[in-house]
Amino acid sequence: MSLVVHKYGGTSMGSVERIKSVAKRVAKWHRAGYQMVVVPSAMSGETNRLLALAKEVSGSASLRELDMIASTGEQVSVGLLVIALQAEGVDAISFCGWQVPIRTDDSYTKARITSIEDQRVRDELAKGKVVVITGFQGVTDDGHITTLGRGGSDTQAVAVAAALKADECLIYTDVDAVYTTDPRVEPDARPLKTVTFEEMLEMASLGSKILQIRSVEFAGKYKVPTRVLTSFSDPMIPIAEEASSGTLISFEEDENVEQAVISGIAFNRDEAKVSVLGVPDKPGIAYAILGPVAKANIDVDMIIQNAGVGGTTDFSFTVHRNELQKTLDVLKNDVQPSIHAKEVTGDPKVAKVSVVGIGMRSHVGIAALMFETLSKEGINIQMISTSEIKISVVIDDKYMELAVRALHRAFELDKAAA
Ligand code: ADP
Ligand code: ASP
Ligand code: MG
Repeated sequence: MSLVVHKYGGTSMGSVERIKSVAKRVAKWHRAGYQMVVVPSAMSGETNRLLALAKEVSGSASLRELDMIASTGEQVSVGLLVIALQAEGVDAISFCGWQVPIRTDDSYTKARITSIEDQRVRDELAKGKVVVITGFQGVTDDGHITTLGRGGSDTQAVAVAAALKADECLIYTDVDAVYTTDPRVEPDARPLKTVTFEEMLEMASLGSKILQIRSVEFAGKYKVPTRVLTSFSDPMIPIAEEASSGTLISFEEDENVEQAVISGIAFNRDEAKVSVLGVPDKPGIAYAILGPVAKANIDVDMIIQNAGVGGTTDFSFTVHRNELQKTLDVLKNDVQPSIHAKEVTGDPKVAKVSVVGIGMRSHVGIAALMFETLSKEGINIQMISTSEIKISVVIDDKYMELAVRALHRAFELDKAAA
């Protein structure tokens, strides 16, 4: 018998009406003979509301308590969904992460799943029940509740699918596919029938909110067939039609299919740029700057060091926007005095825009077209980084949407065949 995992995001669970629609869809699959595990998110806006409440009480809440609070949104969702399934005549049971248990490390607010015990879930499936497991949360070996980071229900679902060796993990959301770029920014964005695992990994890591990056990592590591599709279609459409809709993440390049050079454009405003100006241009300077930053547990993304003029140079890098102040404190207190830098500045008003595609490996001129397009729009590039299958630039954030649309046109993403 086939076992499938369904994940429903916040908008898909956003109202009583939506939850009833999810229950109808799940009931349809269950009646068709599938073993079903369902992983819902909190109702849309709920996680934000809970975290805002905590912040209202105190700006310096401990991370453990934040997880205690944020994890409750998903607990409400599983209960409501099971009640809706029971109303459909389906036998179902809900579990929190700790009841499964889904074990994680103790990095509160961004915990990593370390193991999943599947016996309890299998026992309930064997009784013919639909098992509904909270998204976004787990438990440490010491019994503390953790959450997996924003968007973490995707990861929960794919990890559960991997642990149960499910036949497929279906990620139901509020768009009907992975598009060439966010359709909310570029209305001409085109849905993709398939996207390679590597491309999806890049897109997620570069800021596409459609899937949390760790879910893609799990899908890749355990080869979980994963599909992104809409929960907003008629819940009673035939399963065969539904099961082939949306976007499948593929693990092999199909040699018979002509690969698009660029498959998508990702963007985000999550980063901030930090510059250390007027530093001596001599060996060891990158380490002198980035060593203390790494020691403070701050992740650095793009780095650029200018050619030296008159014995000094400028050094810039990006960090997550939430860590800008912490980074500036480290630089001003621990770095600037010791290397005699002239100035330390921070700029949160930047955006990162990236073009992604495995076809880049065999095509030249992608970077040139990207830079030409941005220059025609009068957009200044502040930083550049490249890998085999992506080129990213940092620009002023007020030009982000303009850049995305111009690049989408320049690479003819609205036209290419999927
Ligand atoms: P959920 O609540 O279901 O997890 P999210 O809001 O986390 O949904 O992710 C879905 C959203 O991702 C879409 O509404 C869309 O705005 C955004 N998105 C970003 N990049 C893309 C893309 N390339 N294709 C489709 N959607 C995208
Ligand atoms: N509810 C969590 C969030 O809003 C997890 C998720 O929806 O994936 O980030
Ligand atoms: Mg999401």
